[in-house]
Amino acid sequence: MITGDLPGLTYMVRPQITPLHVFKSGGTAIGSRNVAPLARCPSWPSNVTKRLLSDSGHPEGTAQDANASKDPFDDENTKLAYKSALRSGDVVVKTTGKNESAPFWQFGSLYLRENCPCPKCIHPDTKQRIVDTFSLSLRVKPENVQSNGADDVHITWSDGHESTYSWKWLAAHRGNLKPTIKSRDVKPNRLPRPFKAYDPQKSNPYPEVVYEDVMCKDTAVLEWLENIWLWGFCFVKGVPVNPESTKALIERISFVRHTHYGGFWDFTADLTYKDTAYTNEYLGAHTDNTYFTDPARLQLFHLLSHTEGEGGKSLLVDGFAAAKALAKENPGFYNTLSLSRHPWHASGNEDVCIQPSVTAPVLNIHPDTKAVYQVRWNNYDRAPKTKWHTSEQKDWYKAARAYNNQLTKSSNEIWTQLQPGTALIFDNWRMLHGRSEFTGKRRMCGGYVNNDDFISRLRLLKFGRQSVLDNLGNTRGWQQRDNPYSIY
Ligand SMILES: [Zn+2]
Repeated sequence: MITGDLPGLTYMVRPQITPLHVFKSGGTAIGSRNVAPLARCPSWPSNVTKRLLSDSGHPEGTAQDANASKDPFDDENTKLAYKSALRSGDVVVKTTGKNESAPFWQFGSLYLRENCPCPKCIHPDTKQRIVDTFSLSLRVKPENVQSNGADDVHITWSDGHESTYSWKWLAAHRGNLKPTIKSRDVKPNRLPRPFKAYDPQKSNPYPEVVYEDVMCKDTAVLEWLENIWLWGFCFVKGVPVNPESTKALIERISFVRHTHYGGFWDFTADLTYKDTAYTNEYLGAHTDNTYFTDPARLQLFHLLSHTEGEGGKSLLVDGFAAAKALAKENPGFYNTLSLSRHPWHASGNEDVCIQPSVTAPVLNIHPDTKAVYQVRWNNYDRAPKTKWHTSEQKDWYKAARAYNNQLTKSSNEIWTQLQPGTALIFDNWRMLHGRSEFTGKRRMCGGYVNNDDFISRLRLLKFGRQSVLDNLGNTRGWQQRDNPYSIY
């Protein structure tokens, strides 16, 4: 008996039509209709398949079907893989076999748990993940799996949480039966591109420039942009406290990038836009625009007023410095975060569901310089990855947790209290930002700048137009400081 050999495991059988058969180990059928409990089936799962087919009356189950004699479970490797899946403690769904793309589906327990669609785990308005993946146990297990009818599956987890998944969702998100990352993909660690990290422990002065200088001198713009490139952020002092001057400041770099949230923004905390950034709650450190194929490179904030309350400190965390520390702690984790590509999304407003054209890793390696040049870190906007082998899921969750530990170390957090008159700009491809909870009314303005426009402006100011033209696309000498391509 498979169930007798494998005590304590939970799996279920997906129906071809109805009825739905969900089995728990030990031969007890839970929520099954019109079918004998698994305990009465002979020992191999293929028999379960046949029984299901005949019970459901599906034509694929008849002897006339040419494929009917080809049961995937006749194959030894499939049998072994299935047995091993059951042993792993993952949630396993046995499909009806014939004419299915896979004889069984396997879901990592943590993967299913963190992608629970209930309103405590996914914000009903913003559609962002609100369950903290990194607070969930790595060893979370299903305690009970049962069907609530033909359309969904209900799981009670070892942490007491209850989740319901539709079969459609499960079909789309089932794990791959083979790992997708090949050993040849694993290259020696590619550290982040050259940068300087601000050490919050040392309380050195922050990189800063003066508004008036930036507005009238290109040399000051260069100094400003070099600070952003090198340190990842820079303050601008003496900004007139109004949205017009703030917008003019951004436009010293380039035009403000428009998104589905608008262009230059000027808002007081409310839920006009369905995104957690627009509330007054604590906001953990993250990068913005993980859901764009081309996330905005720069973001500028200017606090115009804060009345009738307090709090709302700004948080910056250097994603490159944390990645470097992670590589030192565990090179395998660093590799995992650079190789595992993820979908991301912004689906809060009814008329948008934005997803990057290319799935993207947390640590993005530049194909020419071979250095990590872009960080995507936003647990709210990370979508459930598909075609993912459960062993790779486990590796990734461990690696992501270790990176999260680096990112949330208080010694890596740069906390500042924004003041009217001081704007903060940062490199959104590197620095994570967040803020503490606040009370009262906060009016904040700011905007995004595209990568290409920022880099163009910086290269031209730093190297001059002729040198930039002479070195168009010169990735060969990107390490040389006089090559405009050393800035990217
Ligand atoms: Zn939930």
